[in-house]
Amino acid sequence: MRRRRVVLPSGLEVHVRAPEGAVRDDDVVDGTRLRFGRAIATLLAPGVVEGADVLALAMRDFHVLRDLLLRTGAIAPEPDDDARCRNCDAPLAFDPRELDPIELETAHASAPSPSLDPAPLPSPVRLPRGGIANEITMRPVTLREARPLLEALARDTPYRVTPRLLTAMGVLALGTLDRPVLMARVLGRASDAVWASVEQRYLELNAAPPLVAPLACPACGTLHEVVVPTPDELDPDATRTERDTGAPFLSEHEFERLVERLAPAIYEARGVRIEAVPPRVEPGVPATDIAGEPLLGSYEPRQEVDAAGYTQLEFVVTLYYRTFRRVWEDEGSYDVEAEIRETLDHELEHHLHHLAGHDPMDAAERAEARQELRALYGDRRLAKLAAREAARDLGQFVRVTWPFFVLIALALGAAAGFGWIRW
Ligand SMILES: [Zn+2]
Ligand SMILES: [Zn+2]
Repeated sequence: MRRRRVVLPSGLEVHVRAPEGAVRDDDVVDGTRLRFGRAIATLLAPGVVEGADVLALAMRDFHVLRDLLLRTGAIAPEPDDDARCRNCDAPLAFDPRELDPIELETAHASAPSPSLDPAPLPSPVRLPRGGIANEITMRPVTLREARPLLEALARDTPYRVTPRLLTAMGVLALGTLDRPVLMARVLGRASDAVWASVEQRYLELNAAPPLVAPLACPACGTLHEVVVPTPDELDPDATRTERDTGAPFLSEHEFERLVERLAPAIYEARGVRIEAVPPRVEPGVPATDIAGEPLLGSYEPRQEVDAAGYTQLEFVVTLYYRTFRRVWEDEGSYDVEAEIRETLDHELEHHLHHLAGHDPMDAAERAEARQELRALYGDRRLAKLAAREAARDLGQFVRVTWPFFVLIALALGAAAGFGWIRW
């Protein structure tokens, strides 16, 4: 057991002897199940934390220590059934032991304190005895204060908005109203959007300052930015069910018809025969670029040797239906025709460069994708991840993770190409 000195976001310095690989996975503390109970029980055990009263820690500080226990394997990851790939919906399992515990010793040393100003509500709420509240005032809470919330979250039934719960969340005032009983009555009846904003504000004041870790989907290679430690106690996105999705996106068939209608003019303008590079709509899981980002479109010069031994060269432009649909669902309606035109035209430009023997666009786009990964994760962390991937057994390595080829290439400083696909 290594003794680590950790500087917490509040500035407090503690020494932690995190049991390594002890894998505690039950959440019962003093006979009661609590959200994050496994972390709380471990930290409360004699000799684990020196330099602080654990229950008096701010939740932000607590979450950093929880992250440490997850990384050292002292506690098992908390299950998160909602974690699914944003591209193919496959379940994602994040293993915090992939991350370096040493990073946490100083990562939060200069974390800025969250602002304590009142936060605006998405819509005004009516107060008893007249009056309207446009904002909510909350403060950060300690682990001891948050306990009623953590108890409510550990039950199998949905939690209720009670005065006790609001106090545990640090709610001080709703507009001019500051009596917990009345605030609970108002917020208990408020819209999902309003309640989601209360949850959001709670997380701003109480979650650990964000650290991002990369996670590639084992099924399709899409890269995800996991904010650690994960999951949070509340999920405002899930609460905000009243999202205005507006009109549904085109069906697959309608989308194909639209592409057929738009393509001829675009091909003509580029001087390309449509039969030479037929546009195709892929209804399945979209391919990703080398930074693990799902594609709208791609261009591929495919080489195949036929039965007679002749090399066949085929050019394919692909539009990925599901990526177009997902943008619509996630970000709202947009001009689909314009986006199809632009994507087709872009892929034809790749084709013309390819025929000319050199594709500067492709080189620039690959460099940009690499740059994004670097900026997000840093060279040192990428190198470590790549080394760890390379050390896995070969079968798993080849099967699981082609985006990790990128990480490895980055780590080695190689500018190697990855297959033929362009985007
Ligand atoms: Zn996936
Ligand atoms: Zn491109």
